[in-house]
Amino acid sequence: MTSLLTSLPPMETALRADRLRAGLAGAGCEALLVTRLVNIRYLTGFTGSAAMLLVTPDDLVFVTDGRYGEQSAEQLGAAGVVAAIEVSTTLAGQQAALQAAVRGVTRLGLEAESVSWAQQRRFASDWFPDAELVPTVGLVDDLRRVKDAGEVARMQAAAAAADGALATVRPMLAERPEEREVALALEVEMRRAGASGPSFETIVAAGPNGAKPHARPSSRRIERGELVVIDFGAVVDGYCSDMTRTVCVGEPTSATARRMVEVVATSQRAGVAAVAAGVTGKAVDEACRAVITEAGWADAFVHGTGHGVGLEIHEAPRVSSTSTDTLAPGHVVTVEPGVYLPDEGGVRIEDTVIVTDSGCTPLTHAPKDLVIS
Ligand code: ZN
Ligand code: ZN
Repeated sequence: MTSLLTSLPPMETALRADRLRAGLAGAGCEALLVTRLVNIRYLTGFTGSAAMLLVTPDDLVFVTDGRYGEQSAEQLGAAGVVAAIEVSTTLAGQQAALQAAVRGVTRLGLEAESVSWAQQRRFASDWFPDAELVPTVGLVDDLRRVKDAGEVARMQAAAAAADGALATVRPMLAERPEEREVALALEVEMRRAGASGPSFETIVAAGPNGAKPHARPSSRRIERGELVVIDFGAVVDGYCSDMTRTVCVGEPTSATARRMVEVVATSQRAGVAAVAAGVTGKAVDEACRAVITEAGWADAFVHGTGHGVGLEIHEAPRVSSTSTDTLAPGHVVTVEPGVYLPDEGGVRIEDTVIVTDSGCTPLTHAPKDLVIS
């Protein structure tokens, strides 16, 4: 288990603050106060639950509370990040440290999507009364779209943990297990393989439950001949994987269910084939949707085609009919069309792929065979 983590190649964590600085002027600010924890992790390697990071043109000031003094020094050091670390158990102490650091900054950026109303009021009236506070959107999130080699290695390891878990657990489905027993078995196997946990709440949805795209695993037993949607992923060193397979113990009893599987499989292949640098998320969605619409099930494909994956299970870029994103090399996205019919259940097939100049390379490799004998 430790061998997995120690064998992972390093990430370019220490270079990221400079990339962020390059975008500050365009966002109308001289410095950015990063308050979203996942973005602080991205920029510094810190994994704790409380911190703020001030990025100025020349300095990084990392503020945390007494629980994280030692951990932050270790983690920033391990990532090669040079920052002034200010530890204070009181908000007043943290305020003083940041006030000193923003002296001279006239336009201070905040992460508009994550700052609470109370924080904004506190920052404006008490903490930084002399600076103009500038709302910014997606400055760090946009950097996170392109994964470096170390990030890709982590996501490959997470995807491999999930692939291996499904291979181990598949035969169990023939024994009429409850949905939740299958979900638990997948999570145990992923952790055995070195994952820190599931990347989201595992979905195992059989028969009519499969018609709800985000059903929770229940005590319902999995019966022969019904469709089972299994959507799950692992986390390795903070990075997520995401994969869906639809399986059936024996052949599906209904002819409609068999056709749903064919149509979604064709749609999913069309979507993966459409992914390449320079292609829009909207175009990938259209490639999937056209196949399902042609089959007469446009209204039964009730979600977008996919999403970016990384430190978060859902992140930029988006792959949907309303997406304005264009894919670029190093983006990691899912392609996961589905068809959901209340009387038949659901079919969804999902791979996570990394975008290349000429197409994409899958990170998820579990076989797509439907039938478990
Ligand atoms: Zn998924
Ligand atoms: Zn997904």
